[in-house]
Amino acid sequence: MSIDWKKDSEKYRDDLIKDLTDLVNIESVRDVEHKTDDYPLGPGVSKALKQVLGYGERDGFVTKNVENVAGHIEYGQGDDILGVLGHVDVVPAGDGWVTDPFTATIKDGKIYGRGTSDDKGPSLAAYYGLKLIKDLGLPVSKKVRFIFGTDEESEWYGITRYMQVEKKPEYGFSPDAEFPLINGEKGIVSFKITFDQANDDQAIVKSFTSGVRVNMVPQTATVVLNADKIDVEAVRSSFTDFVADDKLSGDIVEGNGELTLTLTGKGSHAMDPKEGVNSATYLATYLTSLNLNDKEKNYFSFISNTLHLDFDGKNLNIAYSDATMGPLTASPDIYEYNEKQDSANILVNVRYPKGKTDEELVNNISEVLPEHASAIVDGHAQPPHFVSADDELVANLLAAYRDHYDDNSEPMSIGGGTYGRMLDRGVAFGGLLPGRENVMHQANEYMIIDDLVLLIEIYADAIYRLIK
Ligand code: ZN
Ligand code: ZN
Repeated sequence: MSIDWKKDSEKYRDDLIKDLTDLVNIESVRDVEHKTDDYPLGPGVSKALKQVLGYGERDGFVTKNVENVAGHIEYGQGDDILGVLGHVDVVPAGDGWVTDPFTATIKDGKIYGRGTSDDKGPSLAAYYGLKLIKDLGLPVSKKVRFIFGTDEESEWYGITRYMQVEKKPEYGFSPDAEFPLINGEKGIVSFKITFDQANDDQAIVKSFTSGVRVNMVPQTATVVLNADKIDVEAVRSSFTDFVADDKLSGDIVEGNGELTLTLTGKGSHAMDPKEGVNSATYLATYLTSLNLNDKEKNYFSFISNTLHLDFDGKNLNIAYSDATMGPLTASPDIYEYNEKQDSANILVNVRYPKGKTDEELVNNISEVLPEHASAIVDGHAQPPHFVSADDELVANLLAAYRDHYDDNSEPMSIGGGTYGRMLDRGVAFGGLLPGRENVMHQANEYMIIDDLVLLIEIYADAIYRLIK
């Protein structure tokens, strides 16, 4: 039987946009401050999960909700399970949006909103690919489980729980990166660098804060200075000069004996720190021009001398590269400094190729830390993951992609972590097409609507090749 994938995909254009709009309009950001027994990651992500599982039920699939933190939509039969792994959580909106990030808005052939490209849009396109196979009644010999996680942007709580409770698929892909295909994912680890040092009464910095998520280059950084301990006019003038750099913008607010400086750079994904302009390392660099006390100097000089623009971790003593997976990258993304506390922190997010362990890296960092500082591995660390380009899964996915899109480029490695690594034979496959602007985690995130329809076509054919 001959299948016109393009024509059949086109039929789902309006339904996909409608479902995506409803899903984007749910603010599914991890919110553990409002967690309950029923909603361990807060209500938003679970609401989004129920929404997509509801699409599956509506369309006649078998679905399962695992403790409101993950779930699947199932199709086909047999013991062999193909896993398709997407996520319904999103990173926080951040600043700089033109439209409401949680009201999907269509403009010039694009759909704007947080999650449209990461990962609600591509996930739903892959879901519609599966629905297309079902609606056509194509014969299948294997089972597919489309698994949705709710904590991909943070700790992977939901997908990890899912794999403990449910059968783990043997092989599969995640539509949560780019085309053609990602068969190598760098290790991901965050190092918490803690400075333990008492303050003295010469302090000029009351607080310094920056960073929303450890996987995002911070767009804004704020320092509150004690106006009584500085020459306010001189600081106003030198800060204004500093932000004259075209990559930066600044804001100064005075009142209550405080001078608050806010610096804005550019947010980006931590796997590609060069793409962003790290507001915190720039602001710390500015602060080192002021008359700091020992504690302040220790913290801000370390940021300025070691972390600022150190994208490859050279100053941190962890730079190395792998022939197939590329170089390590380092992105210092979260900062907590307060004059009232003896302890100040920095979280550095590192993506590393095969060849080293996070333990080795933390030891290397420890060798170059200043006095009063120490480093540990923080939170959920993931080792590097690699599937051979000769694997039949990789060959099938690539062949499907190449049949629908004119691009013969080879599989690649990335610094991002996708659910592909949850499976022994797991890769990431789409949904960003070559040459498209990568707006994941950025303000004004969008997806081109024609691309979404093309994704249905690619995913439908790819899934069918793997389960027929
Ligand atoms: Zn993401
Ligand atoms: Zn994602």
